[in-house]
Amino acid sequence: MKNILLIATGGTIASKNNGEGLAPAISSAELLSYIPEIKELCNVDTIQVLNIDSTNIQPEYWLLMVDAIKENYDKYDGFVISHGTDTMAYTSAALSYLVQNVDKPIIITGSQKPIAEAATDAKKNLIDSFRFAVEDGVKGIFVVFDGKAIIGTRAKKTRSKSYSAFESINFPYAAYIDNSKITRFTKSEDVKDKIKFYDEIYPSIFLLKLVPGMEPDVLDYIGEKYEGIVIESYGVGGIPFNDRRNFLNKLGNLTSNGKIVVIATQVALEGSDMGVYEVGMKALKNYSVLQAYDMTIEAAVTKLMWILSQSKNFNEVKEKFYTKINDDILID
Ligand code: ASP
Repeated sequence: MKNILLIATGGTIASKNNGEGLAPAISSAELLSYIPEIKELCNVDTIQVLNIDSTNIQPEYWLLMVDAIKENYDKYDGFVISHGTDTMAYTSAALSYLVQNVDKPIIITGSQKPIAEAATDAKKNLIDSFRFAVEDGVKGIFVVFDGKAIIGTRAKKTRSKSYSAFESINFPYAAYIDNSKITRFTKSEDVKDKIKFYDEIYPSIFLLKLVPGMEPDVLDYIGEKYEGIVIESYGVGGIPFNDRRNFLNKLGNLTSNGKIVVIATQVALEGSDMGVYEVGMKALKNYSVLQAYDMTIEAAVTKLMWILSQSKNFNEVKEKFYTKINDDILID
């Protein structure tokens, strides 16, 4: 039997109503007590690194999860992390950058309903996660939710209430998991290099969503406070340069001050392609900016957090940003 470590961090799955709304209350050992049948599948140990609503997740807390995996990496065949759904996609992307060359399964899961409630998706999601974690050949970081396994850099919470809360963005599901079988659609690549754990993160990244009417001087403020900025622009990506509100000069100030700017899109599917329109080309040709292409916003933001902890040099950042990690980007 394989040995799996459950790393609990809180979320709805572990929540109870304390009279002021749902809040995490259940320990990791109690979580396991709701799925006694798991003993027939694998040996499970458990540790609790946090017990918080994932709205309260901080980038520094990802390093606690990294530590828990690092300390136990050789002792276990795989890991299941229970986590709130609200920022789960940020955590799954962040862990994809902070733990690389992963040759074992690291599965992140949670639920839309608490495990203690009669009608809950928690037990299925937990059991599915353990089943995927003991499946031979599964390597890397995944979200398992509502019968689907999603590559950690491709997950996005797209529904706030239904059990089917997560989608795989611009990439196939890694697997369907049902009661009788696991059907895999992606193959975990052979891992050539040794597992690498990173112990630093640069939390100060700003995500700006453009709306018509926004004043360009917002970029002055952001530039004073942040080293990295992801701009959620429109469509395939562009920066407004209409006389009334022209963002290009402000963008130029940011980049000439050494700030790292990534232009992404607020459209959830298919990603950016800034060479198509003049609004994109003007920014791309005249300023040192990056674009997110098919990456999720969660991946773009956390990849910058990981990269900027190592370098703030544009060319170094560019090279790392466009290097594929855990299938986060399709360009070569
Ligand atoms: N607010 C909860 C959390 O993210 C929601 C959930 O887990 O589904 O912790």
